[in-house]
Amino acid sequence: MAKIKKILVANRGEISLRIMRTAKEMGIATVAVYSEADRLSPHVLFADEAVCLGPPASSKSYLLGDKIIKVCKELAVDAIHPGYGFLSENADFARKVTQAGLIFIGPSPEAIEVMGSKLAAKQAVAKYDIPLVPGTEQAISDIGVAKKRADEIGYPILIKASAGGGGKGMRIVENEEEFEEQMHRAVSEAQSSFGDSAVFIEKYISSPRHIEIQVLGDQQGNMVYLFERECSIQRRHQKLIEEAPSAVVSPAMRKAMGEAAVGVAKACDYYGAGTVEFIVDGDLNFFFLEMNTRLQVEHPVTEMITGKDLVREQILIAEGKSLSFSQEELKIHGHALEVRVYAEDPKNNFLPDIGRLETYRRPQGAGIRVDDGFEEGMDIPIYYDPMIAKLITYAETRDAAIEKMVRAIDDYKIVGIQTTLDFCKFAIQHEAFVSGAFDTKFVENYFTPAVLAQHITEAEMELLSALAGEFFVKNKPSESLKSEQRSAQESAWRTRLR
Ligand code: ADP
Repeated sequence: MAKIKKILVANRGEISLRIMRTAKEMGIATVAVYSEADRLSPHVLFADEAVCLGPPASSKSYLLGDKIIKVCKELAVDAIHPGYGFLSENADFARKVTQAGLIFIGPSPEAIEVMGSKLAAKQAVAKYDIPLVPGTEQAISDIGVAKKRADEIGYPILIKASAGGGGKGMRIVENEEEFEEQMHRAVSEAQSSFGDSAVFIEKYISSPRHIEIQVLGDQQGNMVYLFERECSIQRRHQKLIEEAPSAVVSPAMRKAMGEAAVGVAKACDYYGAGTVEFIVDGDLNFFFLEMNTRLQVEHPVTEMITGKDLVREQILIAEGKSLSFSQEELKIHGHALEVRVYAEDPKNNFLPDIGRLETYRRPQGAGIRVDDGFEEGMDIPIYYDPMIAKLITYAETRDAAIEKMVRAIDDYKIVGIQTTLDFCKFAIQHEAFVSGAFDTKFVENYFTPAVLAQHITEAEMELLSALAGEFFVKNKPSESLKSEQRSAQESAWRTRLR
């Protein structure tokens, strides 16, 4: 059995730090990689060793698989953790890592390949009696046949790119008249965006919930599920708020979904940590959507309610160890919420708002976890995903976790960049969220920029008075020298950061 002594994390930001923290706790040395834009990032400073991969663009740095493998060889690294995004779901990379005699902390390349294609995944699970959204299980080659199937299913329907991901590659068709035109568009879009023109159709479930199951499997074939995460609060089909457990999942439904998820994982001989995503309709029927063959952004909520460190489990599984607990031993304790703090402006269609973290102070206290990869004074680079942090709260009950989150959001001080914090505060206090009666249409149904403009939050009030105070101090004549010295210091600090 392999004992991992040194891990290279082929990623950046919060997830890179989060993985290295666990590695350090396990007595494993860490290597960070970074692009020129991330030279002074916390993940680089935290690692035992760090190697610059190249210029900021991902294609010239974080996506250079061969270069990363070469670095591993030079630094006597024995395992690579890919995090999420970048190379994490790239089967060729996983294969090359193994061929180079290194351990890939993740599933087999074959499992990544099967689940990376939505169609291959549907076909793989066919013999496991997993509920699928009504639709086609093959790539559409004949528009006439597809149209007939769409008529049977009933409109609206969704055209999906088999290789799509990240909420991209989906088209809604409202009626028969639009079908052909939308189909042509979807095929050419799939080809240009994903290099694979295969598309299929699915019933469009209006107002669905997105609920996913965390699974863990070892290389000996043992597989458990670590319950669900509710991820229905989304914008542009991308998650913003997650929680565990879900407010609507009963013990019986949890068991049924958990067992279906284990079936999906077994269908591709899965090992490692994985997530099986389901879409749930208004009557709480669930259908398999896809499997993500990596650690998810929202994994902390599962860690909070199960007491398991998922990265630790991933590492142990990669070393060849058997799971040290059974399904029966896993229990849900308490409730966890996660809000994603994106550098985006909710008042302007959630468009990215890149800039400098002029002020950056994290909330603190019992039951609060902040996973981030930035410090005050740093710029949010334009080259990558604009997520600044994940703010997680944990309490005995859902109501208490919400209350704690409201307080944590108020205590989170971010100046210089618009963020999704205010939106998240609005959402978790909204009657629909509090009662649990919400779905993926939450933003569409309840959110307008006006709801944020209406109330200046407590945090903003405090900030305004702090800024007013600072303005007053800066403008007092006897203080002017001190203030000049301070700004000279600040600009020196920022120059260092560039
Ligand atoms: P991706 O790989 O891009 O994340 P998914 O298949 O996981 O794509 O779907 C992402 C989101 O799109 C879901 O969370 C849900 O909000 C929406 N969605 C997907 N399939 C359907 C469907 N059949 N009907 C309605 N909404 C859907």
